[in-house]
Amino acid sequence: MIGKMAHLGRHAIVIGASMSGLLAGRALADYYDEVTLVDRDALPLAYEPRKGVPQGRHTHGLLARGREVLEQLFPGFTAEMVAEGAVSGDVADAVLWFNHGFYLCNVHSDLSGLAISRPMLECGVRRRLLQFPNVRIRERCDVLELMHDRDRNRVTGIQVAPREGSERVEMISSDLVVDASGRGSRSPSWLGAMGYAKPREEQIKVNIGYKTRLYRRRPEHLHGKMGAIIAACRPDWRFGAVLAQEGERWTVSLAGYFGDEVPADDFGYIEFARSLPKPEIFDIIKDAEPLGPILPYQFSTNQRRYYEELARFPEGFVVCGDALCSFNPVYGQGMTVACTEALTLRECLTKGSEGIGRRFFRAAARLIDIPWQIAVGSDLQHERVVGERTVQVRFVNWYIERLFRSANRDSVLATKFLEVANLMRTPSTLLSPAVALRVWKGQLLT
Ligand SMILES: Cc1cc2nc3c(=O)[nH]c(=O)nc-3n(C[C@H](O)[C@H](O)[C@H](O)COP(=O)(O)OP(=O)(O)OC[C@H]3O[C@@H](n4cnc5c(N)ncnc54)[C@H](O)[C@@H]3O)c2cc1C
Repeated sequence: MIGKMAHLGRHAIVIGASMSGLLAGRALADYYDEVTLVDRDALPLAYEPRKGVPQGRHTHGLLARGREVLEQLFPGFTAEMVAEGAVSGDVADAVLWFNHGFYLCNVHSDLSGLAISRPMLECGVRRRLLQFPNVRIRERCDVLELMHDRDRNRVTGIQVAPREGSERVEMISSDLVVDASGRGSRSPSWLGAMGYAKPREEQIKVNIGYKTRLYRRRPEHLHGKMGAIIAACRPDWRFGAVLAQEGERWTVSLAGYFGDEVPADDFGYIEFARSLPKPEIFDIIKDAEPLGPILPYQFSTNQRRYYEELARFPEGFVVCGDALCSFNPVYGQGMTVACTEALTLRECLTKGSEGIGRRFFRAAARLIDIPWQIAVGSDLQHERVVGERTVQVRFVNWYIERLFRSANRDSVLATKFLEVANLMRTPSTLLSPAVALRVWKGQLLT
């Protein structure tokens, strides 16, 4: 456990007890006497999906950077999850990555991943957080409004409606409120009602239709590797991911852009897998035992809210996680960004709570810029995605395509690419002269 830091107040509240709320709760536990997370759902003890996190039924990969931060916040977390059946491995060696017509060559690296269902991951983090004696979770409570002191320019708590057993709306006061309520966050309208401007919102439409199914995992599948990712790219932008999970299961997600629907019947689902540019997912599901129904999820837009641009913002209030920025899920970034935002929040709190919102948004914007560039930049290769295709975006996409081709044989390039995709390093590292030279040499060999 990280030692007690400066004492910043009596009570902090987090709206939402999903991944970003739990991680924010961990950051706050060092600074406040009491931390209360409030969620509208009943939170299951078993590793089961729940209503407030419908994406939890779909394949969730935790990038290497996310696993590293989780380990920092909750030492021993990976080993604990592996002891319960999650699968850990080298993401450069134990996962197949296909994009732009080529596989990255597999190579030993320091990039360690954790293959685990989303409900198990969330439940594991929640269990660890609740070991802090000053943290508690109030379930089945809907946060309706923020409490606000206009004279002090300050959020002072929340209004809550318990879901069952009481008609009474409760006021809970606090020194800090963190909104981690996901994409549907009501913070923009709460701010409007309190007399502040709403943040600018950017939306990049992708209209992705996911279909996910669980299958029994057998040792011979995928030559013992823990996953394969067939990235969406030209010509048809079909996406496929298969990842190991606890309970000797595979989670398989197939997806298409802009109405290219994955069929929801057995035959159509398998045929969609057959249509992917590589056969690994089809080879598994054509005769593996399905362990449940084919489940849909519709994801419409990459969405970012620029709170850092607001000239006025109340004291005692922060917004984080998907409420701040939510990314096209095919890049698997959301939970890792939530992890790094928790570190950023903790870092901001070391300097006190004065101006915490403004300071956090500025720092978070710098860290969000990178995954946003990766997700939106890649999506802009699709001709139907509307957004500005700057010279830089077009150059980077052109270059990455070539890098992938060269990284089919060059293990140094494969590792460098995965370090960036796993948010361990910045994309600029791929543009260094040494890397560019390897990319160029690789072109001569293919
Ligand atoms: C299909 C799909 C696949 C994905 N795959 C990946 C992946 O592979 N890797 C990855 O890193 N990320 C992935 N993501 C993204 C990831 O799910 C999110 O980034 C992550 O869950 C963090 O979200 P959050 O905690 O901010 O919000 P959410 O997970 O949306 O949680 C919001 C919480 O707030 C609660 N809540 C909302 N409103 C209120 C209210 N008024 N009062 C009380 N409680 C409230 C909800 O009940 C919920 O618990 C995927 C997303 C989708 C849609």
